[in-house]
Amino acid sequence: MATVTAELAGEYLNLVDGQWVGARNDEWIPVESPRDRQTIARVPRGGEKDVADAVNAAGRAFPGWRDTAPRARGRLLQQIADALEPHVERIARIISLENGNALRTQSRGEVNFAIDVFRYFGSVAGEVKGETIPLNATVLDYSRREPLGVVGAITPWNAPVQLAVMKIASALAAGNTLVLKAAEDAPLAVLEIAKIADKFLPRGVLNVIVGYGTEAGEALITHPDVRKLSFTGSTAVGSRVMAAAADRILPVSLELGGKNPQIVYPDANEDWVAQGTITGMRFVRQGQSCTAGSRLFVHRSILDSFVDKVTTNLAKLKVGDPLDEESDIGAIVNKKQFDRVCGYIDDGLQRTNTTAAVGGLPPTNGPLSEGYYVEPTVIVGVENEWRIAQEEIFGPVMCVIPWEDEDDVIRMANDTHYGLSAFIWTHDIGRALRAAHSIEAGWVQVNQGGGQVLGQSYGGYKRSGIGREFSLEGMIESFTQRKHVSIDTTR
Ligand code: NAD
Repeated sequence: MATVTAELAGEYLNLVDGQWVGARNDEWIPVESPRDRQTIARVPRGGEKDVADAVNAAGRAFPGWRDTAPRARGRLLQQIADALEPHVERIARIISLENGNALRTQSRGEVNFAIDVFRYFGSVAGEVKGETIPLNATVLDYSRREPLGVVGAITPWNAPVQLAVMKIASALAAGNTLVLKAAEDAPLAVLEIAKIADKFLPRGVLNVIVGYGTEAGEALITHPDVRKLSFTGSTAVGSRVMAAAADRILPVSLELGGKNPQIVYPDANEDWVAQGTITGMRFVRQGQSCTAGSRLFVHRSILDSFVDKVTTNLAKLKVGDPLDEESDIGAIVNKKQFDRVCGYIDDGLQRTNTTAAVGGLPPTNGPLSEGYYVEPTVIVGVENEWRIAQEEIFGPVMCVIPWEDEDDVIRMANDTHYGLSAFIWTHDIGRALRAAHSIEAGWVQVNQGGGQVLGQSYGGYKRSGIGREFSLEGMIESFTQRKHVSIDTTR
């Protein structure tokens, strides 16, 4: 594969107090493209001092930003959205280069979605309202929603722009200032977004630091002047973020992992359902999605025929160079994750009576061996208690588990520490609603497998998280605090 670096700056810097700066210790992190394992850029290896500079800048910027009229803040976010429009293609290509997501099926949509997010939060910034209570004729009793102060936000690499912009736009619309620790594996497109946003925002309102989780991340979650932690990533790190927040009684929002069920009823043995389960599994993002429906519960009476439909449809999807318009599916983000996914496939296929209906371990020669490519893999004969059915693989691996009794399949669907999303496939709407209401998950889809809906609060049950973002209500809940004011007007 030819190396494509024309759209990259080569060397990227952190955004601190309106300035573009390297790490104070002058150390760097190389960014490798999973499409061909070439180093494409370097980013600062931010640490404690860089985070302190950023938090101090955000703290200085806070009073001015808090006191800016909410609609004026919203207008700036809308201007950022407009300014991003001409850069969709360039930024989308950068995402594909750095995290391996296919340009056509993923990255373009991701940047367009991020623009929508700036527009949405820009338009609702003036809707952060309080309440009044008619106590009596002389007392004015009301509540107001105030921003929290400096927000520390931490994001992962799988949809780097969407997840970062969700936090930037909602925290800023509510009047907070922000220090974002971008994922070290895919920081470039986020920094490109920050370059454009920075042209419109007062200095220090948005600060972006790149660095490792154990260095910059730890510094941010333990910094005494941060007033709120908003984290998206794994459940293990989410738990660490919550422990750090407990020391200072900080509010947290945690959007964490998932091992999400898809339930196919016997009346849904149809081609569009098979295609829907493929979408639900997020195979076109290499399964690297927290909402991936990676446990496919198929009624035993249709098992073979339904799995055939899934494999026939999966065979039509092309795995290849993420920048190639013909590729439906790109590459796994890095070697560590690639080895992890291969380990799970190996483990699953070593079990007695399991088979790969499609996929399996990746090729060791040919063009796909030049990058971290794994074919979509469907493992049949899995039991819900096994490791591959319980742990989040975060790769293109779907486990098929047969069921016969509805109560039993709901029990299995809920038999997981996670509770992020679920998918129900049936024409019987009564059955679908019974299942949707019985499943312990923050988001259930019936007969569709699409992505999150902007404006609808999103988040997980159980160890998939705490708090909701993605909506006006989520923004108010996550990024403001309530103050009660009571005035005796006769004095
Ligand atoms: P991760 O938890 O390893 O890392 C996420 C971020 O946390 C990165 O920026 C990382 O540098 C940082 N980090 C790591 N250790 C830290 C520490 N000790 N202190 C502070 N920060 C630290 O996750 P990942 O591998 O980047 O992403 C995949 C995970 O994210 C999956 O579990 C996936 O389900 C989850 N995810 C959840 C959602 C959601 O909306 N619920 C969305 C996307 C991804």
